[in-house]
Formats: sequence, C-alpha cells, structure tokens
Amino acid sequence: MSYSYNDNTWISQQLETLIRKLHAFVGNAVTRNRYIVFGAGSTQILNAAAYALSLDNTSSQSPTRVVASVPYYTLYKQQVEYFNSERFKFEGDAYTWRNRPDDGRASTNVIEFVTSPNNPDGQLNKAIVDGPNVKTIYDRAYYWPHFTPIPAPADEDLMVFTLSKLTGHAGSRFGWAVIKDEAVFNRMTIHMKLNSIGVSKDTQLRAFKLLKAVLEEGTEIFDFAYQTMETRWERLVATLSLSNRFSLQKFNPQYCLFSQKIRDFSPAYAWVKCEREEDKDCYAVLKAANIIGRQGNEFGSEDHYVRLSLVRSQDDFNILIHRLQKLVSKEDG
Ligand code: PMP
Repeated sequence: MSYSYNDNTWISQQLETLIRKLHAFVGNAVTRNRYIVFGAGSTQILNAAAYALSLDNTSSQSPTRVVASVPYYTLYKQQVEYFNSERFKFEGDAYTWRNRPDDGRASTNVIEFVTSPNNPDGQLNKAIVDGPNVKTIYDRAYYWPHFTPIPAPADEDLMVFTLSKLTGHAGSRFGWAVIKDEAVFNRMTIHMKLNSIGVSKDTQLRAFKLLKAVLEEGTEIFDFAYQTMETRWERLVATLSLSNRFSLQKFNPQYCLFSQKIRDFSPAYAWVKCEREEDKDCYAVLKAANIIGRQGNEFGSEDHYVRLSLVRSQDDFNILIHRLQKLVSKEDG
C-alpha cells in the first residue's frame, strides 16, 4: 500500500531483475552494470531523459537543442514544446544540425532522439549528430524480434523500452530506461519523484506477471508475434507491388542474433508514399478510400507520405488490405 518497497525505492527489484533477464534472453540490450528507471509508459521516461540530459548544459547560455532525424516520432517535439522550458528547445531535423566545424555548431549542446527501429518507417536509425556536447536518447520501443532483425545487443548510453510494443499492453502504462551514467540515472530518478513518486505498484505487478509469462514461454511468444507481423508485411508488400501509385519503405535483410538467420524486417507501420505529383495530400487520397493513416507532416515529413498502422487487430488489418486492393485495382492500366 505504501509508496515505496522495503528497500525504500519505488522500483520493484523483482521486476528489475526480470527485465535484465528478458534483455539477456532476447539479446537486444546490454544491461550489465547499467541502471534502470521505470516510467508510466516510455512517454514519461522520454521526458525524464530530456530533462536529465539538458542539465549537462552548464556552460552555455543558450538552451540545449533537441533534434531528431526526419521522419521522426512526433511526441519528442510535442513534449519539448509543451514543457516550454528554458533548458531545451526543439530544433527539428537532426540533418541540419550535423556538425560543420566552421559555423560554430560543433560546441552546441544537443540532444538527439534516435528512434531505432524508427516510427514511422521501421529503419534501424543511428545517431547522426556528432560532437563533444551531443547526447543521445535511443528510443528502442520497437527493438524486439517481432519487428526487426536484432543485429547486436543495443549498448547506448541511454536506451528507452516499453511494454506497449513488447506485449502490446499499452494501457498498463509501463516503460523503462537502461542508463550507463549514474548522474543521469540520479537526475531521472528525481524527475520521477517530483513528477509522480514513481510508477504505480499495480502496474509494476502487472508488468511482472506479463514478463514472467513471456520468459516462461521461451521463444514462443516472439515466434508467434514475428510470424504474425511477417505475414502482414508480406501481404501488404504483395498488395502494393501491383501499384504504380503507392510505394512502401524498403529494407535490407540483416542477420538476426535472436532468430540465428538472415531475415527481413516486419515493421509496426507502413510508410506509404503517394508517387503521383498530383497526390500531394496522400492522407486525403487514402481517406477517400476509407483508409485512415497519419499525415507525413506529423513526422516532420512531406504530405506525399502517410503512416499506416500494422499493429491493430487482425480484422482491422484484413479490412485494410481489402480496401488497398480495391484502390490499387482502380489504377489506370
Ligand atoms: N516511442 C515510440 C517510438 C512510440 O512509437 C511510442 C508509442 N507510439 C512511444 C514511444 C510511447 O509509448 P508508451 O508511452 O506507450 O510507452
């Protein structure tokens, strides 16, 4: 009933141990000698991380620049703008902040959000801004074998994970960060204390039960989820391969340590492009066919692009394919 556990923290040690075991089993992240912080979904964690890293900016008068490469998950921008802090400011596309030594940017304090696999396009993004005062937050929400090959255990300074994209229990609101640096861990812990006095114990218990079930099943849950996502992706690729009007993102298959073979990606989202010049508003084109996506501009991109979700129910996915087939069959020629 109380706020804390017996060791006077808000973090269940059993759950923390289970998370470390899970990463070791899947091989998707290094957790040895790393700190772990829990949050109400990764949404709360992302904010705690930006706050913690912006405190490294002690020498400069100007706020830390927060960037992400286009197309990016829009929450980073929304959060930074919402908090309207003197500490950090959203500066848009990371590509425009690549260091050019002659323009004084090399010493700028930057936080780069790197989403890998990326939302919306599923690519295994890497940080692109470099420099002595650049910090990265690796959003690893989709770094699980059902969405991507796992080429190596992730080993970045600050990595963020979430139950939402692992088991799908987004409503339980549970995420975690794996952190190298003790000072950053301490600052994130302060943020969690002031923000919500930690994560609900009910949520932690639920997460514990879920992750325990995942581990008890061995590879079964991951195999099932991969099969499901792979079949969906293949059906989508087959449907749009008949089209000249719409195209999909492309992937290069990679060796997956978890599956122990070279395999293709099986992403959570389709990043669809309307190829025709006149289809400037791809969202409207699809909407007219009763297909609701998310506009490219939400991801800092052009509206020739739309993101379609592939992680809805099987019925929803079947309807999506059916409507796309109808749309493609109406194309000229
Ligand atoms: N990061 C990414 C890349 C996401 O796609 C999402 C959910 N759409 C989140 C973070 C937030 O998820 P949650 O707060 O449920 O963990």
